Amino acid sequence: MAKKYEGPAIGIDLGTTYSCVAVWQEQNNRAEIIHNEQGNRTTPSFVAFSGDQRLIGDAAKNQAASNPANTVFDAKRLIGRKYSDSVIKNDLQLWPFKVIAGTEDNPVIVVHFKEEEKHFVAEEISSMILAKMKEIAEKFLESKVKDAVITVPAYFNDSQRKATKDAGVISGLNVIRIINEPTAAALAYGLQKRANCVENRNIFIFDLGGGTFDVSVLTIKNNAFDVKATAGDTHLGGEDFDHRMVNHFVKEFKRKHSKDISGNSRALRRLRTACERAKRTLSFDTEATIDIDAISEGIDFCSSITRAKFEQLNMDLFEKCMETVERCLTDAEMDKKTVDDVVLVGGSSRIPKVKQLLQDFFNGKDLCMSINPDEAVAYGAAVQAALLGEGIKSVPNLVLRDVTPLSLGISIKGDVMSVLIPRNSIIPVKKKQVYHTCDDDQPGVSVDVYEGERSVASENNLLGLFELKVPLAPRGLPIQVCFAIDADGILNVSAEEETSGNKKDITITKENGRLSTEEIERMIQEAENFKEEDLKFKKKVKAMNVLDDYLYNMRKVMKDGSVTSMLTSTDKMKLNAAMIKGKNLIDDKEQHETFVFVDFLKELEKIFESALNKINKGYSDEESDSD
Ligand code: ADP
Ligand code: MG
Repeated sequence: MAKKYEGPAIGIDLGTTYSCVAVWQEQNNRAEIIHNEQGNRTTPSFVAFSGDQRLIGDAAKNQAASNPANTVFDAKRLIGRKYSDSVIKNDLQLWPFKVIAGTEDNPVIVVHFKEEEKHFVAEEISSMILAKMKEIAEKFLESKVKDAVITVPAYFNDSQRKATKDAGVISGLNVIRIINEPTAAALAYGLQKRANCVENRNIFIFDLGGGTFDVSVLTIKNNAFDVKATAGDTHLGGEDFDHRMVNHFVKEFKRKHSKDISGNSRALRRLRTACERAKRTLSFDTEATIDIDAISEGIDFCSSITRAKFEQLNMDLFEKCMETVERCLTDAEMDKKTVDDVVLVGGSSRIPKVKQLLQDFFNGKDLCMSINPDEAVAYGAAVQAALLGEGIKSVPNLVLRDVTPLSLGISIKGDVMSVLIPRNSIIPVKKKQVYHTCDDDQPGVSVDVYEGERSVASENNLLGLFELKVPLAPRGLPIQVCFAIDADGILNVSAEEETSGNKKDITITKENGRLSTEEIERMIQEAENFKEEDLKFKKKVKAMNVLDDYLYNMRKVMKDGSVTSMLTSTDKMKLNAAMIKGKNLIDDKEQHETFVFVDFLKELEKIFESALNKINKGYSDEESDSD
């Protein structure tokens, strides 16, 4: 296959709570999950604004407890949605950061940064996470990365996909494809290779993540992935299991110390962090300990929990997952016996009890879990990226196809939904249909584009609309409407009246309240500015650290009596004063620019070296005090 893209193309799983990046390594014939600078293979999808610094990933999550209002997460729940969307109504109450309605009802995240109120749309926050993932990959690959495949949940509509792609563009990535998360997971296991060209292969994807639970049934036929059904719970995942454990320990603390910490938010946050860690331990060990210094009123909290207890605390939630599994199969009209592969995805699928319940449900079937579940989606995205780029030798000429998650059509007379592209159509796809004007001398037609399964058009989701002028004519004037979806699932709709040659089209962008090219341009610029600021900040920290090290060494020398006894008292005074000034500079670091630290270090070096030189040259100690 010809090389289409420059350099390595990466796969990014942009998760609600954690993100993951991978790259195909031809020499090993497998994808490599790339760890971040903390050594972690997944990176929290968190962005924080703290002091004059922007933090992304682990650094942002770690300071969330002390800076809740300016620590943003869950951008994926907002992306491509409207503020008034009922799905996010409840989330708004739960988020510690502020979200307001912006232009065209787009949600806007408000944070306090550098003494200013800053506004961000979800695309911008997601772009920051994507930029971080890009940076992680670049460090590992020791080269620039431009091209990426990004994954989205199978149920994401056109608007959410487009917005995710925009986020990629803002981050400086060339998004070569948006693919469904379950499709990516199936790809990771190379399940398409096993699909016989004649028969379908049925794949069940079980994705239990940090805050969401998604199951999907896919079938593969002729290398095309078809999402047969999806089901899930938008608020069920690892955080709920953590929460149950937190409640358990709050009760225990009350019993042991007669103190209620349920109103102490700092204590709760620390406990939650400890519980997440304990939960992870319980996936490979049968017991885990909790150890928190001075959790409340100076009391240290030390305790332990067994795997059995953890399972008991969450059993109803685990069982709820299994009910969803059943429902999804019913929706797909599929008997569980006909499922060929069951794939585990999402960090919480590492929980042994979850695996066991799922295996039992599928009558003891072997589960696909040789790839870490929280890495499978990124793995598959990397496979897809390689297939689109340089190709994979072991899978020659494989073309992968996705399908449309919802039906697409226009509203015709009487608010009827006329479907041009039915749900589950393989993309890319192009469909044309001729419609006719309803009235004599009608000046124009309105093309209202909807997605959804309802036959009443206005009950579906309006993606965009436009007016096409037509020449005055008796009713029945033919209008050709064309729907085209590209390989990323992005829709272009055009309408044409042949006799006049009038033609109009839209790609679902501005009209749909999505970002315009100018807005994206502006955000790209902002992202660039942030990069500069980050660099500036890093320079400042470096200058500060060099000064701090120097001061530290100086203090050590000054503690050495054999040296100080040889210094003149003037020099000693000068040195002490300079050391105090240096410490003050570092203490008030926010107020100083980088050059202040650099210049002061030079001054300090001069004073110190000249004092030491005098000693080396054997100046007498006559001026010195008698110490
Ligand atoms: P997302 O839902 O954002 O796609 P992941 O699939 O990475 O994210 O899942 C993150 C969740 O997985 C977190 O709640 C985390 O605590 C949980 N998790 C990660 N590793 C383990 C483990 N070893 N055992 C249990 N839960 C885990
Ligand atoms: Mg996920």
